[in-house]
Amino acid sequence: MFELNANQQLWREKIIDFAASHINPQAQEREQTAAFDRQLWLACAQLGLTGLSIPQEWGGSGMDAYTTVLALEALGFGSEDPGLNFGIAAHLLAVAVPVWKYGTEEQRQRFLPGLCNGQAVGGNAITEETAGSDVFAMQTSGTPQGDHYRLNGTKTYCSNGGEADLVLTYAMTNPAKGFFGGISAFVLEAGQQKISWSETREKLGLRTCPLAALLLKDCAVPVANRLGLPGAGGQIFNASMTWERICLGAIHLGAMDRLLKLATQFANQRFSGGQNLSARQAVTHPLADLKVRLEGARLLTYQAAQQLDAGQRTGLAASMAKLAVSECYKHFCLQMMQLFAGEAYQTPHPVEIQLRAALGATLYSGTSEIHRNLVARELGFKVH
Ligand SMILES: Cc1cc2nc3c(=O)[nH]c(=O)nc-3n(C[C@H](O)[C@H](O)[C@H](O)COP(=O)(O)OP(=O)(O)OC[C@H]3O[C@@H](n4cnc5c(N)ncnc54)[C@H](O)[C@@H]3O)c2cc1C
Repeated sequence: MFELNANQQLWREKIIDFAASHINPQAQEREQTAAFDRQLWLACAQLGLTGLSIPQEWGGSGMDAYTTVLALEALGFGSEDPGLNFGIAAHLLAVAVPVWKYGTEEQRQRFLPGLCNGQAVGGNAITEETAGSDVFAMQTSGTPQGDHYRLNGTKTYCSNGGEADLVLTYAMTNPAKGFFGGISAFVLEAGQQKISWSETREKLGLRTCPLAALLLKDCAVPVANRLGLPGAGGQIFNASMTWERICLGAIHLGAMDRLLKLATQFANQRFSGGQNLSARQAVTHPLADLKVRLEGARLLTYQAAQQLDAGQRTGLAASMAKLAVSECYKHFCLQMMQLFAGEAYQTPHPVEIQLRAALGATLYSGTSEIHRNLVARELGFKVH
């Protein structure tokens, strides 16, 4: 049922080969110094990674959501740079996809080729100091003034922030209507609109993906940069999150596949008390359980992606996939740390790098608690 066709197989091989030759050689150094490498970003774009799901007429690779998942899974498997993987996925799913889905023809032609060919790094900025999980509490205002809007506010977290050339952001343009109907989405162009960034934030993991706050002070944005209708921001954000929640986790699935390979090699080779570690059920059973959990999370992801491609309602499927993958990834990496023990506690080590990355996975694109709320609501519970 989930066999890869010839094209998907070819992409998988291409991406894994590319990661080995271009991404991995300096991945650990970049992670330690928190370096974003624009040349490498451009090389990733040349391969087609930054525009995987965007139709070819605007410069993308023309993949459906399911094939995007397979490609991102290959990236997660092949690449030892989880920050770069995350930055590419966020750029694609939370910026390029909504511009494709909701942009006018003029906006697609203006923004998508650069997002696909790597000239424009994309960032998505919605979170605010008092509006993280509670995105409805958004304070950033967008006041209509003739042929433009005036944006004021601070978006506290933007992945690819500081480097981003195009930022998809959201502002309250009609407070009386609230989140659905009152929020509008805007594409901001560095150099064209008055945007500025905070210092890049130091963070625990995903260090090669810069994170900064977006500062909007009387930022005049032409009406031509509003994405979708006035007030459509809530819907656009939800649609972009559906793509992100389904597809971004594929990089974690790939990473877990690779860690599992390392784990079997390690346990088969290492001896303790005259026995191979693999001979000890205390070592292998938790890993067997995690493999079962990983395959369950993969199936939920594939199913959600196929539902998205079929145009079905995917809120529940997206939340279940995101929750399953991110929680599995976190527990998986903790178990890997236990297995590799002292070796993995030293930096840099593939396990500690993934563990630090995995701790973020249950936070971004909606925390695990928020996804449990969404699942419970879909089941009919009266969750507020
Ligand atoms: C690595 C990383 C990258 C990110 N990148 C971006 C980005 O590119 N763009 C962007 O806009 N944002 C980004 N974020 C921000 C992210 O979306 C928020 O951190 C997330 O939405 C949680 O918001 P918060 O941190 O304000 O926590 P809060 O919302 O304050 O939550 C604190 C705790 O309370 C729980 N909680 C809150 N409300 C409820 C509730 N109703 N029911 C149950 N539990 C609840 C949460 O689950 C959490 O455990 C990023 C975050 C991280 C960690």
